[in-house]
Amino acid sequence: MPFSTMKRVLLKLSGEVLMGEGPFGIDPAFVMELAEEVKAAKETGLEICLVIGGGNIFRGMAGAAQGMDRAQADYMGMLATVMNALAMQNALEQLGVQTRVQSAVQMDQVCEPVIRRRAERHLEKGRVVIFAAGVGAPYFTTDSGAALRAAEMNCDALLKGTSVDGVYDSDPKKNAEAKRFDTVTYSRVLADDLKVMDASAVALCRDNNIPIVVFSIREKGNLARVLKGEGVQTVVT
Ligand code: UDP
Repeated sequence: MPFSTMKRVLLKLSGEVLMGEGPFGIDPAFVMELAEEVKAAKETGLEICLVIGGGNIFRGMAGAAQGMDRAQADYMGMLATVMNALAMQNALEQLGVQTRVQSAVQMDQVCEPVIRRRAERHLEKGRVVIFAAGVGAPYFTTDSGAALRAAEMNCDALLKGTSVDGVYDSDPKKNAEAKRFDTVTYSRVLADDLKVMDASAVALCRDNNIPIVVFSIREKGNLARVLKGEGVQTVVT
Protein backbone atom coordinates (compact mmCIF):
# COMPACT_ATOMS: atom_id res chain seq x y z
CA MET A 1 0.00 0.00 0.00
CA PRO A 2 1.47 3.42 -0.92
CA PHE A 3 2.25 5.50 2.16
CA SER A 4 0.00 8.32 0.94
CA THR A 5 -3.13 6.15 1.21
CA MET A 6 -2.49 4.96 4.75
CA LYS A 7 -5.04 6.02 7.34
CA ARG A 8 -3.78 4.39 10.50
CA VAL A 9 -0.28 3.29 11.43
CA LEU A 10 1.43 1.80 14.41
CA LEU A 11 4.75 3.43 15.23
CA LYS A 12 7.15 1.30 17.27
CA LEU A 13 10.06 3.13 18.86
CA SER A 14 12.89 1.15 20.44
CA GLY A 15 13.53 2.18 24.01
CA GLU A 16 17.12 2.97 23.14
CA VAL A 17 16.11 5.95 21.00
CA LEU A 18 14.67 7.66 24.10
CA MET A 19 18.11 7.90 25.65
CA GLY A 20 19.27 10.33 22.94
CA GLU A 21 23.06 10.46 23.06
CA GLY A 22 23.15 9.22 26.65
CA PRO A 23 24.19 5.70 27.71
CA PHE A 24 21.01 4.87 29.62
CA GLY A 25 17.54 6.04 30.63
CA ILE A 26 15.42 8.87 29.27
CA ASP A 27 16.66 12.13 27.75
CA PRO A 28 13.64 14.46 28.10
CA ALA A 29 14.92 16.85 25.43
CA PHE A 30 15.27 14.04 22.91
CA VAL A 31 11.87 12.61 23.85
CA MET A 32 10.48 16.05 23.03
CA GLU A 33 12.13 15.88 19.60
CA LEU A 34 10.54 12.47 19.03
CA ALA A 35 7.19 13.88 20.10
CA GLU A 36 7.61 16.66 17.51
CA GLU A 37 8.04 13.98 14.86
CA VAL A 38 4.91 12.18 16.01
CA LYS A 39 2.97 15.46 16.08
CA ALA A 40 4.05 16.28 12.51
CA ALA A 41 2.96 12.81 11.36
CA LYS A 42 -0.37 13.23 13.10
CA GLU A 43 -0.92 16.59 11.44
CA THR A 44 -0.88 14.85 8.05
CA GLY A 45 -4.21 13.32 9.13
CA LEU A 46 -2.92 9.88 10.13
CA GLU A 47 -4.29 8.00 13.11
CA ILE A 48 -1.35 6.94 15.23
CA CYS A 49 -0.86 4.08 17.67
CA LEU A 50 2.47 4.09 19.49
CA VAL A 51 4.40 1.29 21.11
CA ILE A 52 7.62 2.08 22.95
CA GLY A 53 10.22 -0.44 24.05
CA GLY A 54 12.03 -0.49 27.36
CA GLY A 55 15.60 -1.42 26.44
CA ASN A 56 16.91 1.99 27.55
CA ILE A 57 15.97 1.03 31.10
CA PHE A 58 15.75 -2.74 31.47
CA ARG A 59 15.70 -5.87 29.32
CA GLY A 60 14.60 -9.20 30.76
CA MET A 61 17.30 -11.09 28.86
CA ALA A 62 20.00 -8.91 30.40
CA GLY A 63 18.64 -9.59 33.89
CA ALA A 64 18.45 -13.33 33.15
CA ALA A 65 22.06 -13.29 31.92
CA GLN A 66 23.03 -12.04 35.38
CA GLY A 67 21.20 -14.86 37.12
CA MET A 68 17.72 -13.40 37.58
CA ASP A 69 14.62 -15.46 36.98
CA ARG A 70 13.70 -14.68 33.36
CA ALA A 71 9.99 -14.12 33.89
CA GLN A 72 10.62 -11.86 36.88
CA ALA A 73 13.14 -9.86 34.84
CA ASP A 74 10.69 -9.62 31.94
CA TYR A 75 8.05 -8.11 34.22
CA MET A 76 10.62 -5.49 35.19
CA GLY A 77 11.17 -4.85 31.48
CA MET A 78 7.43 -4.39 30.98
CA LEU A 79 7.37 -1.81 33.78
CA ALA A 80 10.20 0.00 32.01
CA THR A 81 8.02 0.33 28.91
CA VAL A 82 5.31 1.97 31.02
CA MET A 83 7.80 4.59 32.24
CA ASN A 84 8.77 5.32 28.65
CA ALA A 85 5.13 5.53 27.61
CA LEU A 86 4.47 8.08 30.35
CA ALA A 87 7.51 10.11 29.29
CA MET A 88 6.24 10.16 25.70
CA GLN A 89 2.71 11.01 26.83
CA ASN A 90 4.09 13.94 28.79
CA ALA A 91 6.08 15.22 25.81
CA LEU A 92 3.19 14.86 23.35
CA GLU A 93 0.74 16.61 25.65
CA GLN A 94 3.19 19.49 26.17
CA LEU A 95 2.97 19.91 22.41
CA GLY A 96 -0.82 19.91 22.54
CA VAL A 97 -1.31 16.39 21.18
CA GLN A 98 -3.99 14.52 23.14
CA THR A 99 -2.98 11.01 24.15
CA ARG A 100 -4.03 8.01 26.17
CA VAL A 101 -1.73 5.33 27.53
CA GLN A 102 -3.13 1.79 27.64
CA SER A 103 -1.06 -0.80 29.47
CA ALA A 104 -1.24 -4.58 29.03
CA VAL A 105 -0.34 -4.83 32.73
CA GLN A 106 -3.08 -3.05 34.66
CA MET A 107 -2.01 0.04 36.52
CA ASP A 108 -5.18 1.94 37.31
CA GLN A 109 -3.54 4.95 38.93
CA VAL A 110 -1.35 5.79 35.97
CA CYS A 111 -3.08 4.66 32.79
CA GLU A 112 -5.93 2.74 31.23
CA PRO A 113 -5.92 -1.01 30.65
CA VAL A 114 -5.80 -2.17 27.03
CA ILE A 115 -9.38 -2.11 25.75
CA ARG A 116 -9.53 -2.32 21.99
CA ARG A 117 -12.88 -0.63 21.48
CA ARG A 118 -11.87 2.18 23.78
CA ALA A 119 -8.63 2.61 21.86
CA GLU A 120 -10.70 2.83 18.65
CA ARG A 121 -12.71 5.64 20.16
CA HIS A 122 -9.58 7.51 21.22
CA LEU A 123 -8.24 7.30 17.67
CA GLU A 124 -11.57 8.52 16.27
CA LYS A 125 -11.32 11.51 18.58
CA GLY A 126 -7.86 12.31 17.25
CA ARG A 127 -5.88 11.04 20.23
CA VAL A 128 -2.62 9.18 19.94
CA VAL A 129 -2.91 5.84 21.77
CA ILE A 130 0.31 4.68 23.43
CA PHE A 131 0.27 0.95 24.14
CA ALA A 132 2.56 0.00 27.04
CA ALA A 133 3.81 -3.28 28.56
CA GLY A 134 4.03 -5.13 25.24
CA VAL A 135 1.70 -8.12 25.13
CA GLY A 136 1.61 -8.23 28.93
CA ALA A 137 3.43 -11.56 29.19
CA PRO A 138 7.05 -12.54 29.80
CA TYR A 139 9.16 -14.17 27.07
CA PHE A 140 7.83 -11.62 24.57
CA THR A 141 9.15 -8.26 23.44
CA THR A 142 7.60 -4.96 22.55
CA ASP A 143 8.14 -5.87 18.88
CA SER A 144 5.58 -8.63 19.36
CA GLY A 145 3.41 -6.16 21.27
CA ALA A 146 3.65 -3.79 18.32
CA ALA A 147 2.72 -6.51 15.81
CA LEU A 148 -0.22 -7.60 17.97
CA ARG A 149 -1.60 -4.09 18.41
CA ALA A 150 -1.04 -3.31 14.71
CA ALA A 151 -3.14 -6.37 13.86
CA GLU A 152 -5.94 -5.81 16.35
CA MET A 153 -6.16 -2.08 15.60
CA ASN A 154 -6.23 -2.76 11.84
CA CYS A 155 -3.20 -0.61 11.14
CA ASP A 156 -2.07 -0.22 7.53
CA ALA A 157 1.59 -0.60 8.47
CA LEU A 158 3.95 -1.13 11.36
CA LEU A 159 6.60 1.59 11.26
CA LYS A 160 9.67 0.61 13.21
CA GLY A 161 11.71 3.69 14.13
CA THR A 162 15.12 2.65 15.28
CA SER A 163 18.81 3.64 15.22
CA VAL A 164 19.54 2.22 11.75
CA ASP A 165 18.02 3.28 8.46
CA GLY A 166 16.68 -0.09 7.37
CA VAL A 167 17.39 -3.79 7.12
CA TYR A 168 20.86 -4.90 5.99
CA ASP A 169 22.16 -8.24 4.77
CA SER A 170 24.69 -8.15 7.63
CA ASP A 171 25.35 -5.89 10.59
CA PRO A 172 26.28 -2.44 9.17
CA LYS A 173 28.06 -1.56 12.44
CA LYS A 174 30.44 -4.50 11.97
CA ASN A 175 30.61 -4.85 8.19
CA ALA A 176 31.32 -1.79 6.01
CA GLU A 177 30.19 -3.78 2.94
CA ALA A 178 26.72 -4.48 4.40
CA LYS A 179 23.93 -3.72 1.91
CA ARG A 180 20.57 -2.22 2.79
CA PHE A 181 17.44 -3.70 1.25
CA ASP A 182 14.79 -1.35 -0.18
CA THR A 183 12.30 -4.18 0.12
CA VAL A 184 12.63 -7.68 1.51
CA THR A 185 10.16 -10.49 2.12
CA TYR A 186 9.05 -11.73 5.53
CA SER A 187 10.30 -15.21 4.56
CA ARG A 188 13.81 -13.93 3.79
CA VAL A 189 13.91 -12.03 7.07
CA LEU A 190 12.93 -15.18 8.93
CA ALA A 191 15.10 -17.62 6.93
CA ASP A 192 18.24 -15.46 7.11
CA ASP A 193 17.51 -14.28 10.66
CA LEU A 194 17.89 -10.66 9.54
CA LYS A 195 17.78 -8.23 12.42
CA VAL A 196 14.46 -6.46 11.97
CA MET A 197 12.24 -7.57 14.80
CA ASP A 198 12.03 -10.85 16.66
CA ALA A 199 10.66 -13.82 14.73
CA SER A 200 7.28 -13.97 16.46
CA ALA A 201 6.64 -10.31 15.57
CA VAL A 202 7.65 -10.83 11.93
CA ALA A 203 5.48 -13.95 11.69
CA LEU A 204 2.46 -12.14 13.10
CA CYS A 205 2.89 -9.34 10.56
CA ARG A 206 3.31 -11.86 7.74
CA ASP A 207 0.20 -13.80 8.74
CA ASN A 208 -1.84 -10.60 8.82
CA ASN A 209 -0.29 -8.88 5.80
CA ILE A 210 1.02 -5.91 7.74
CA PRO A 211 3.98 -4.27 6.01
CA ILE A 212 6.89 -3.45 8.31
CA VAL A 213 8.70 -0.21 7.50
CA VAL A 214 12.12 0.03 9.14
CA PHE A 215 13.70 3.48 9.26
CA SER A 216 15.95 5.68 11.40
CA ILE A 217 14.05 7.87 13.83
CA ARG A 218 17.28 9.54 14.94
CA GLU A 219 17.39 11.89 11.95
CA LYS A 220 15.18 14.91 12.31
CA GLY A 221 12.17 14.97 9.99
CA ASN A 222 12.71 11.40 8.86
CA LEU A 223 9.34 10.04 9.93
CA ALA A 224 7.59 12.70 7.83
CA ARG A 225 9.87 11.93 4.85
CA VAL A 226 9.17 8.21 5.15
CA LEU A 227 5.43 8.86 5.25
CA LYS A 228 5.70 11.02 2.11
CA GLY A 229 7.56 8.20 0.37
CA GLU A 230 10.71 10.33 0.27
CA GLY A 231 12.68 8.67 3.04
CA VAL A 232 15.30 5.98 3.32
CA GLN A 233 13.80 2.79 4.66
CA THR A 234 13.33 -0.92 4.15
CA VAL A 235 9.83 -2.25 3.60
CA VAL A 236 9.23 -5.85 4.64
CA THR A 237 6.27 -7.40 2.82
N1 UDP B 1 8.76 -7.44 27.79
C1 UDP B 1 8.07 -8.62 28.04
N2 UDP B 1 6.90 -8.86 27.36
C2 UDP B 1 6.40 -8.00 26.43
C3 UDP B 1 7.12 -6.82 26.16
C4 UDP B 1 8.30 -6.56 26.85
O1 UDP B 1 8.49 -9.42 28.85
O2 UDP B 1 5.35 -8.29 25.86
C5 UDP B 1 9.98 -7.14 28.57
C6 UDP B 1 11.22 -7.90 28.09
O3 UDP B 1 12.00 -8.19 29.22
C7 UDP B 1 11.92 -6.86 27.23
C8 UDP B 1 11.64 -5.58 27.99
O4 UDP B 1 10.30 -5.76 28.44
O5 UDP B 1 13.31 -7.10 27.15
C9 UDP B 1 11.77 -4.31 27.19
O6 UDP B 1 11.17 -4.44 25.92
P1 UDP B 1 12.01 -4.56 24.56
O7 UDP B 1 13.26 -5.36 24.81
O8 UDP B 1 11.09 -5.04 23.52
O9 UDP B 1 12.40 -3.05 24.31
P2 UDP B 1 13.21 -2.38 23.08
O10 UDP B 1 14.25 -3.35 22.61
O11 UDP B 1 12.22 -2.10 21.99
O12 UDP B 1 13.75 -1.12 23.65
